[in-house]
Amino acid sequence: MSLSGCFEAPCEVASEPGSPPTPCLAPRPAADAGRTLDAGRTVDAGRAIDAGSDGGPRDAGVVIDVLDAGVRIVDLGLVVTDGGSSSELSFDVGPDDEGFQVELVSRSAGLLLLQVDALRSPTGTMLALGPAYQLHLSRSRPNVGAQAALVLESDDARREFVPGTWRFRVTASDENELPANALVSVRIFIKPRSPLGARQRLGLNLFFSGSAGLTAQSAPTQPRLQQALGEFRARYLDAGIELDTPRLLTLPPGFSTVTEYFELDAGPRIGRSAQELLRQSASAPPGMNIFFVESLVLDPRVPPGAILGVAGGLPGPTMTQGTPASGVIVLFDAARFVPRRPGDVDTLGNTLAHEVGHQLGLSHVFELSGDEDNLSDTAGQNEPRAEENLMAPFSGDKGSLTPLQATTLRRNPVVRP
Ligand SMILES: [Zn+2]
Repeated sequence: MSLSGCFEAPCEVASEPGSPPTPCLAPRPAADAGRTLDAGRTVDAGRAIDAGSDGGPRDAGVVIDVLDAGVRIVDLGLVVTDGGSSSELSFDVGPDDEGFQVELVSRSAGLLLLQVDALRSPTGTMLALGPAYQLHLSRSRPNVGAQAALVLESDDARREFVPGTWRFRVTASDENELPANALVSVRIFIKPRSPLGARQRLGLNLFFSGSAGLTAQSAPTQPRLQQALGEFRARYLDAGIELDTPRLLTLPPGFSTVTEYFELDAGPRIGRSAQELLRQSASAPPGMNIFFVESLVLDPRVPPGAILGVAGGLPGPTMTQGTPASGVIVLFDAARFVPRRPGDVDTLGNTLAHEVGHQLGLSHVFELSGDEDNLSDTAGQNEPRAEENLMAPFSGDKGSLTPLQATTLRRNPVVRP
């Protein structure tokens, strides 16, 4: 069986069959990796630029738009992090809602880590506080450039999902993890409760770089891709989510090889050239973006071909296209899949399903560090059932999802009723 290991979400690593899996050390941003998005903008510390008040709790946001699927958008505009943190922000949810996703996009220069922090329910329960997301009742992981927090992500948090005013702060830190003043776009997508058991739908945008001859033209008849998409589709149907017929999109030249990496460090961060690739989703229609590349090297210690895929975030900003975290990248290499031993299976379908699972908000069921996800119906590290789960850190040919994992996927606002 082909082994793959994913030691630090959202990075996937495969080893040669029979050899120990290669750890994927999540990279850190290079010091010069900053990109000016909004050159020369003076950060007006401590004050929301628009739609806000000075300091203190803000009025609940105004719903600016309602999407076809009934998802409401609350736009809090541009928010400033003064000394690393914004003032408290808030918005309201109603009795017919089942969850929401907050999406942050940096409008400042440099690679900044953003986080939806100090997230409090209407009853005052603190669901996410500080960067140690493993401790959160509903995880909110810091991410570079663009971050999303899906609420609710856990059993406990689900009990806490009550109508009323939710509050949070936006925090920002620089590549040295020091508090940073930043200008951050903040939007909240509120999803109404869907009928229990009703099938939902997910749109797919497939982006082709020409890797291994795979193009938007050849994709409909490419056997390996079609088999993988069939497996991906089956995994999600099991979770009550039907995948739409994918839209096939052609990337500009130069994206078949993602080679740039950061220095080694901990944290869910991806390379800048990968970020440039994910930004190519800017004009894509709503849906999950999947980018196929031929070479994906984000860490000099991991050999070429060893990283199978990477998600832009956990969850990623699924409702905002064109950010450096708007999608997942999956390897489709020149060697194609060649079975080497009896029982070897092509994991492309599971890789697609697994990375999209991360992007929609699923953690690994366990990490080698001993951390486990927040869902009570997923198995722990030493239980055989855990390794059969789609979100096991070592993905193989199994791909089951538990009811709470399916609920988490279906709670994401990009998944439509
Ligand atoms: Zn993973």
